[in-house]
Amino acid sequence: PDDNHYDVVIIGAGPAGSLAASLLTQADVNVLVIEKQHFPRFSIGESLLPQSMVYLEEAGLLSIVEQAADKYGFQYKNGAVFSVDNRESIFEFDKKFSDGPEYTYQVKRAEFDQLLAQEAQNQGATFTFGVQVNDVTFTPKPSLTLCDEKGMTRSITAEFVLDASGFARVLPRLLNLDTPSDFPIRSSLFCHIKDDITDPDYDRNKILVETHPEFSDVWYWLIPFADGTASVGCVAEPRFFEELEKAHSSKDSMLFEVIGQSTRLQKLLSNATMTRPVQQLTGYSSNVKSLFGDRFALLGNAGEFLDPIFSSGVTIAFKSAKLASDCVIRQLQGEDVCWNSDFSQPLQKGVHSFKAFVQSWYQGELQSILQFEDAPSNIREMICSVLAGYAWDLDNPYNTETDKRLQTLGELCAF
Ligand code: FAD
Repeated sequence: PDDNHYDVVIIGAGPAGSLAASLLTQADVNVLVIEKQHFPRFSIGESLLPQSMVYLEEAGLLSIVEQAADKYGFQYKNGAVFSVDNRESIFEFDKKFSDGPEYTYQVKRAEFDQLLAQEAQNQGATFTFGVQVNDVTFTPKPSLTLCDEKGMTRSITAEFVLDASGFARVLPRLLNLDTPSDFPIRSSLFCHIKDDITDPDYDRNKILVETHPEFSDVWYWLIPFADGTASVGCVAEPRFFEELEKAHSSKDSMLFEVIGQSTRLQKLLSNATMTRPVQQLTGYSSNVKSLFGDRFALLGNAGEFLDPIFSSGVTIAFKSAKLASDCVIRQLQGEDVCWNSDFSQPLQKGVHSFKAFVQSWYQGELQSILQFEDAPSNIREMICSVLAGYAWDLDNPYNTETDKRLQTLGELCAF
């Protein structure tokens, strides 16, 4: 093999990059994945959705995740709880409209991402860690400039580039593809804790999403793992945190105060201790003019990122990797591939549902819908399906004209 030329070069070894590497390698495509960091490395984004299990299975990666669950404290997850003012509404994924897996995991991403990358290598893909893609030109074939940690640069060429660089958004920046997101800038403050939760009613099998008692657009997540630790975070517009910054010298004490503002979380986490320093991420929502171009496509967060509220990030990353890999395989076989109708549009269908859900959440309608437990069971099952990640199932009416339907339903539920 030629070390300077590959069929496909993938930028980034997160979930999107590793899944694509796995699928392509199994189709005998010669793949190189370039990853800037060394694994295991921390990443936020720990609560998966059942839909993501379908893509793991298709890539032959599910069994290693299941086998490693105990070792790495991956938490079995079978639903979501939405709570506000001490009321809670429980969604069980086995009560969903769409077919497909009814459970998934909450994973520490350091171990999860490493596991996927390792297995893709076992399947035959080549990964290089500690090397960064600094530049890409198309003449018309892609040529990438790589830089290692000693500052040494070299060039490689490829038939096709998949950008899976996450929030670094390598190609959108280099090719000027960025467009503003439809969402206002939001910020999140988060850490890992040893949770020491003793409340017998607390269900570790579900993500807890709690609305702030005073501000309905501010919310918390509590994502438990199976080893007694959890991920906890709060999302708000930056000015909410800027106010707190005036009274706090550290992000740790800021997060403590924010958690203290929720009676429920305060009680649940009264014995908790931090196991990772608090981090803050701001302005992560993004969009692009196009998800593909001649000889490249954007996967996962390198394309678009909505909002963390429905834990859709990794699922969308997988879906984009699956669709793009299928297209690349056909293109390398000499077929004429229409990337718009075979990649971008099918991907966008589900993304639009999630987007409408996110918008409706922040406008308040979806919060009323989720809390309205007396809604007809078939409607709750349709909503539950999207919460479980089945946003591409067009038999679910809530995946077509989603905004209109949520608006109408929200008005009914608000009474
Ligand atoms: P990433 O996982 O970000 O991987 C990109 C990789 O590319 C990184 O390893 C990086 O080092 C590498 N890279 C970057 N630049 C270069 C370069 N120049 N050269 C080489 N390599 C490079 N999603 C969920 O599914 N569930 C959740 O509960 C959830 N919670 C979230 C909470 C918050 C606050 C935020 C901000 C996001 C959350 N997400 C969640 C989203 C999730 O983090 C992402 O959607 C997911 O990580 C995207 O995967 P990816 O493969 O696209 O990119």
